[in-house]
Amino acid sequence: MSRSATPRQRALPVFEVLAPYTASMLHGVEHADPEHEENRVAEGLPAMLRAFQARSPNWLRSPYHQHIDATFVPHRACAYRDVPFETFLECVRRVLPARDAGFALEALRAYHVLAAQQWRQWSGYLGPIARELSRKVQGREGQELSEILFGAAGVDPFKLPRFQIVLVRQPPGSRLLGAREERTLVLAIGGDRSVASLAETAFHELAHYAVQYSSRVERIEIEFQNFGDIGAIAANHWNEALATAFGQGLAASRLNPRFCFQRSMYGNETVDALAHALYLVWRGDPYLELGPTFARRFVNIAKESWPPNKWQRSDFLARAEVYAPSSGALDTFQDRMRAQRFWGRAPIPAHFSRDPQAPPMVARIILATPGDLKAAPWVTQSLGITADDLRRQPGHTGKAELWRRQPNGARLILVLGRTPNLLNEAIVHFWAKADARPSEGWAEL
Ligand SMILES: [Zn+2]
Repeated sequence: MSRSATPRQRALPVFEVLAPYTASMLHGVEHADPEHEENRVAEGLPAMLRAFQARSPNWLRSPYHQHIDATFVPHRACAYRDVPFETFLECVRRVLPARDAGFALEALRAYHVLAAQQWRQWSGYLGPIARELSRKVQGREGQELSEILFGAAGVDPFKLPRFQIVLVRQPPGSRLLGAREERTLVLAIGGDRSVASLAETAFHELAHYAVQYSSRVERIEIEFQNFGDIGAIAANHWNEALATAFGQGLAASRLNPRFCFQRSMYGNETVDALAHALYLVWRGDPYLELGPTFARRFVNIAKESWPPNKWQRSDFLARAEVYAPSSGALDTFQDRMRAQRFWGRAPIPAHFSRDPQAPPMVARIILATPGDLKAAPWVTQSLGITADDLRRQPGHTGKAELWRRQPNGARLILVLGRTPNLLNEAIVHFWAKADARPSEGWAEL
């Protein structure tokens, strides 16, 4: 998109706001509380919901964390189009493996009994919100915001599929507010969220979407490597801080009459501080562009707004490449982690190879028992573990960790448990210390 293309010839085709019946239905099957009384209306529905939700974690795994077992969930895409219920079921039947399809169709048919009865009421509140949200994100202010964002990312919105906002009814008892998968953001509507706050979320996620397609990102990641510790912290947090500075900062200040700079913008202290500071910079320079210059500016922002006395272990763990002996250990890691993103692998490979998807500045975490270390000598070599260390570690608790600072500032970490059970405990203790100050060397867990 050219910045000098004013006056604008045509509106940017950025958003598509939908609220189809099938999306609310699928969301209900995935997230309704089986114990809630409304589900007793349909015969056998609570049991069906319980069974569906306890089913293969591949279906229900949090979509924004990459995981070795994570699979794309194609049946969701079937629900995000305004099509008749039977067409939706046919789509699900075609995209899911046969062993899952029968089960999914049964659950959807059972929930349809309840949902069809209530759809008039649900659509009665989803419809007006969809129309208002669409006006807000695509109106004059929304268009300008999109121009700022796509200009910064150097991405042409005419060449991208539209970003879908799918509104669904939030089932009673469910606390999930939204989730994004690729170009679709599902927002659950319940309680008293204002349309302005939905728009903030939409622009936050649109920023992640634009960054995903930006060819300028790679140079940012490379540049951060020149700044040691603060570069590692900046590398881990810039994407989230950028989306927050854009959605909860720039977009909120224009679209939400109750915008207040002092309020928290994000649920993580580091990201919140960085996003506030980046928002002020971006507000003063709407032509900010991603790239190496941005990386250097962001490092300066991080130096000022997140000085060493505030650093936490989690600042170095926000993005991690993880090697585990089993998918069970990886599951424990994922359940407990406070990372924003991770790339996992099990079992630990005999020879070191990094995940080609992972950016250069990520923590590398190896979960292992002493036996696993013997089978992967690259781990002890790269961590500088001596034979003497191995006689002493893990100590009397049977659980230990080792932190090593890499030359570029990223951390290389071993979480060691004497047995697979103790390793699981060690992983839990490791994440329980995420707020503590970062340290070096061996420690008990
Ligand atoms: Zn985000």
